[in-house]
Amino acid sequence: MKKSIIPVFLLILSLLLLVACSKPLTTDELLELADNNMRIRNYDAALEHYLSVIETEPMSPLAYNGAARAYLGLGNEDGAIEIIMMGLGELPIEPVTIEMFTTLFIELDRPDVALFLIQHVIDRLPREPILQAKLAEIEKLMHVHIFTEATCQIAKTCSSCGEIEGETLPHIWRDANFQEPGICIDCNETEGEPLISGFTEHGYTTNVNLNGLYPHKTTSTAPAVTIVGEATFFDFRIFDSEEGRPGKEGYEYQSVKLLKTYTDSEIRQSGSWVFYHLAFDYYTFDPSAIVFESDRVVNMYGEDVEYSYFVNVIRDEWNRTTTTFIIEYEIVILAPVGYDGFMIALVNWDHFNDEQAPTFADVLDADALVIKLRS
Ligand SMILES: [Zn+2]
Ligand SMILES: [Zn+2]
Repeated sequence: MKKSIIPVFLLILSLLLLVACSKPLTTDELLELADNNMRIRNYDAALEHYLSVIETEPMSPLAYNGAARAYLGLGNEDGAIEIIMMGLGELPIEPVTIEMFTTLFIELDRPDVALFLIQHVIDRLPREPILQAKLAEIEKLMHVHIFTEATCQIAKTCSSCGEIEGETLPHIWRDANFQEPGICIDCNETEGEPLISGFTEHGYTTNVNLNGLYPHKTTSTAPAVTIVGEATFFDFRIFDSEEGRPGKEGYEYQSVKLLKTYTDSEIRQSGSWVFYHLAFDYYTFDPSAIVFESDRVVNMYGEDVEYSYFVNVIRDEWNRTTTTFIIEYEIVILAPVGYDGFMIALVNWDHFNDEQAPTFADVLDADALVIKLRS
């Protein structure tokens, strides 16, 4: 409050002088009086003096500016606009004047009118820094940002002026799965490694390749006699569909043939469970799981996906002369496209005579032949 004492004092002094002299005030004196009233927010008195100046000196830009501001102080925007229009009509086009009126329009929250005004005169006064600066200020005021949404790579950014708002978003991590490491679903940045397959993690290895010929052992039906034979996996194919095997969206067929040959004389004597083959999953492999309870599901990119498994006997031949038994199978899996986790094992049937249902750890013993269909 102390600050207002001096202007009030000056005002009273001016009024006293006015009374004392009773001489008409000059334009400058009236402007000073008006300005002093503006300082103490006595807008009515200020307006009156500015209007007096305009009446006697219509070419005074300061009077128009002051009157418009006094109207603004009184909350009379229409009055302010009327005075500005009057000033624009009377005053010559000067950079300072135009700058003054555009500032008033901005204060009236009409930057569009300020822009129109400045664009209208800037062609005629193109090299005036004061107008160039004002134009830039108005354009900035009127600029409507067109923000692109923030991502984990870039913050929210105006595609027009490049202004940045806020910060980049954190990555959206999807946990590592058997096929991929941890990955940001937004920018594909990766972290770490894919999960280790259950088969590797538990220390198992394959011992059979496609087209190789391998000796193996099985057990006769009764009495329990070891039968020796040979086995080969061959003709591995991947296809979308073929006769009798319709295509399925997102799936493909993986097929392999298995040929087993027995020339052991024991097979003639005793017969045999000619070896037992089973399929399992490389990635989710759990040696403690019960063989018979394996469900037909694999995990691909973190999702459980069902698959189908078929076995056809292609050939089943018994040659008494040479005591040779040949059996050929086609093993067909309708699998998710690109899935590379299918394993087939030939295991000794003997394990399945036990009272207790065998686990994978039981059947994948030294005699088992284990192949991974796809690497
Ligand atoms: Zn912008
Ligand atoms: Zn990211």
